[in-house]
Amino acid sequence: MLDMDPNKTALVIVDMLNDFVRKDGALVVPGAIDLIPRQKKLLEAARESGMMVVYLTDNHLPDDPEFDMWGAHAVVGTEGAEVIDELEPSSNERVIPKRRYSGFFGTDLDLSLREAGIETIILVGVLTNICVMYTSADASAKDYNVIVVSDATGTTSDEIHDFALGQIRDVHGSEVVKTDELLREIDLETPSISISRLTSDQPDVAS
Ligand SMILES: [Zn+2]
Repeated sequence: MLDMDPNKTALVIVDMLNDFVRKDGALVVPGAIDLIPRQKKLLEAARESGMMVVYLTDNHLPDDPEFDMWGAHAVVGTEGAEVIDELEPSSNERVIPKRRYSGFFGTDLDLSLREAGIETIILVGVLTNICVMYTSADASAKDYNVIVVSDATGTTSDEIHDFALGQIRDVHGSEVVKTDELLREIDLETPSISISRLTSDQPDVAS
């Protein structure tokens, strides 16, 4: 039984930035653009239900050591480091820059969530096996309830996507659900919702 009270739940949108999503971005994630419609639906539902909305944004110094591995991307102050227009943050929503994979590493995220009384976070964005997974792992370690939306997250291949979701579900004990399943549970009529265990999306980790 998982309680998802909109007042204690935050939608966390990970790295939906121009550099990862736009065709001419510095580090384009294939298929990231196709996630936008489902993320938009979740964003609208979250806003209507009064949920907190947080944007985690890669935000690197121009000489960040991470660039040895990935090349330059999401450099501080560039358009590439901005959230895509389709998911533009409202003025009351938090944009939290990060320099490492986990949204909790060296950032204001944990304090921001705790100050707002958040107990459950819903994760969407890119990449499933990197920033989404490491943020989800840290959130679990900090005893947040974590829900990862499988068809509103993406990475470089289906195989890697399914492996990461398997880790998130089976190792970190988080919920992995689809957008439509989650939308059905975000009841806009009542301030609080009770979910009798969400139906899990079952990534095929065996094959
Ligand atoms: Zn990065």
